[in-house]
Amino acid sequence: MERLDALVIGAGVAGITAGIYMKRSNLSCVVLDKDAPGGKLNNIHRIDNYPGVPTVDGPQLAMALFTQATDLGVVIDYGEVTSVKLAADGSFLIKTDVNEYNAIALIVAAGVVTGAVACPGERALRGKGVSYCATCDGNFFKGKDVLVYGYKDHAVEDAIYLSSLARKVTFLHDAPLETPESHLEVLKGKENVEIKEGKLLSVLGETKVTGASIETSEGKTEVEVDAVFPLSGEVSSSQFLQGLGVNMVNGFIEVNSDMETNVPGLYAAGDVLKKKLRQIVNAAGEGAVSASSAITYIHSKKRKAA
Ligand SMILES: Cc1cc2nc3c(=O)[nH]c(=O)nc-3n(C[C@H](O)[C@H](O)[C@H](O)COP(=O)(O)OP(=O)(O)OC[C@H]3O[C@@H](n4cnc5c(N)ncnc54)[C@H](O)[C@@H]3O)c2cc1C
Repeated sequence: MERLDALVIGAGVAGITAGIYMKRSNLSCVVLDKDAPGGKLNNIHRIDNYPGVPTVDGPQLAMALFTQATDLGVVIDYGEVTSVKLAADGSFLIKTDVNEYNAIALIVAAGVVTGAVACPGERALRGKGVSYCATCDGNFFKGKDVLVYGYKDHAVEDAIYLSSLARKVTFLHDAPLETPESHLEVLKGKENVEIKEGKLLSVLGETKVTGASIETSEGKTEVEVDAVFPLSGEVSSSQFLQGLGVNMVNGFIEVNSDMETNVPGLYAAGDVLKKKLRQIVNAAGEGAVSASSAITYIHSKKRKAA
């Protein structure tokens, strides 16, 4: 197995930025993803808070990032990372469903998975009306009634997007909304959106979603809907690090200001970090810092080995 200087897990904003910095420092590096490059960007229909880019849709920014990276010669490989182990010399052995890699330094930029609120019916009806991606699945519910459950900006964004397709959108949130006032105004201005405060108790239906059981201040009730988008939970995508002894809080990785974890040679960047703000702008910055720290580490390891 060829030894790489660095391997980056995740080809979202954080991972591709790390790959660009690696490539420009002339070190060998592979950026790995199980899915389309760009990560979460592919789910955003409109971005207007990335400095220097007044308004852009997510897939467009994803494509620009991918083209910039590959034009520079960044290698993007495909496969789902299933495990990471430490070799005797402190390098990393990374296994995917299709390949194995060995790298001196590892940057984890695997993001988060949104959704999964774990209520009855949710799991059984996944793909049968339960969806975690409005941009991907919204079109199936053109002219139908849908429920969006969440309180963060991405849930508000998805409800706005779905309002342009669905007959009616019920937007249910069980916590104070964490969204810019401008997004909230747009949501409130949609005639086919009803905003309710309450909890999603279960998703109803046998072979497909037929409704949802919810609890508001008026008590328990059932709403008839064709789709439920549970966008409340956020789960880190770092399960493959189990056994390495990386410091984490609920699966979110702890790093210092150099993006170093407690494991030498292991860095992390982007949404997978334990942090407050999950946005494109800081994911890119953390990707750059993680690569810069990894570059110093790789050079020092190589000097010692020489
Ligand atoms: C609907 C929505 C709207 C948003 N709107 C905005 C906005 O307007 N402005 C803003 O700044 N931010 C916005 N965000 C947040 C922003 O998209 C994220 O903060 C940012 O894209 C995170 O980038 P990342 O590289 O850390 O992670 P991601 O983009 O999630 O990339 C992680 C990558 O890792 C891959 N991966 C995960 N596990 C594995 C594995 N085991 N093996 C291989 N690959 C793996 C994934 O496939 C993914 O491609 C929004 C998010 C959503 C969901």
